[in-house]
Amino acid sequence: MSDQPQQLLIVEDEATLRETLAYNLKREGYEVVTTGDGEEALELARETLFDLIVLDVMLPTLDGLSIVRILRKEQRTPIILLTARSGEVDRILGLETGADDYVVKPFSLGELLARVRAVLRRSTPETTTTLQAGDLTLDLIGRKAYRGEPELRLSHKEFDLLAALIRNTGTALSRERLLQEVWGYDYPGDTRTVDVHIRWLREKIEEDAAEPRRIVTVRGVGYRFEQ
Ligand code: CA
Repeated sequence: MSDQPQQLLIVEDEATLRETLAYNLKREGYEVVTTGDGEEALELARETLFDLIVLDVMLPTLDGLSIVRILRKEQRTPIILLTARSGEVDRILGLETGADDYVVKPFSLGELLARVRAVLRRSTPETTTTLQAGDLTLDLIGRKAYRGEPELRLSHKEFDLLAALIRNTGTALSRERLLQEVWGYDYPGDTRTVDVHIRWLREKIEEDAAEPRRIVTVRGVGYRFEQ
């Protein structure tokens, strides 16, 4: 991860929603540029290579779907569409506009933030090659995990889950967030999937899986990794 804040473009003509989104995304540490106009959005996207564009479908001067079609010929910037009616979803998907994701209004702020994080995670190249936590080492390139010298035999998902936990050492992560980060937001399973994999991981990395000291349960929230 680079230290540069990621830059987001918010395109939404409803001023209240636009300001709410901008305020909350800035609080998450992103740099935010906003506009309520379609033509201006296109100009801004051409001037600055944003890390992500959150784009309303119904806009003055140029609609969101047209903007996606134009931008897709020019750049790969991830785009999350905001759509007012679930009926529009079929159109968005049917047209294969090339948007990376969509959210149907009204949506909760938490839902949008989760989508933003997930899309950015997918599009941001991994710049760290190893993760270290105590005697645990994760080689992210070779996808190998070690506890001291011996290699740990982790499944694909166990590896991703452990990496997500270590990246957020000391932070309580909800099961929903882990599900999104490791399995992707559209995974049809439920949060018990997370619990099952946590149990398997504990058996592999804890001294005593019944008394976990590394992957700690945070009651009412989820899990926290302790170094
Ligand atoms: Ca609109």
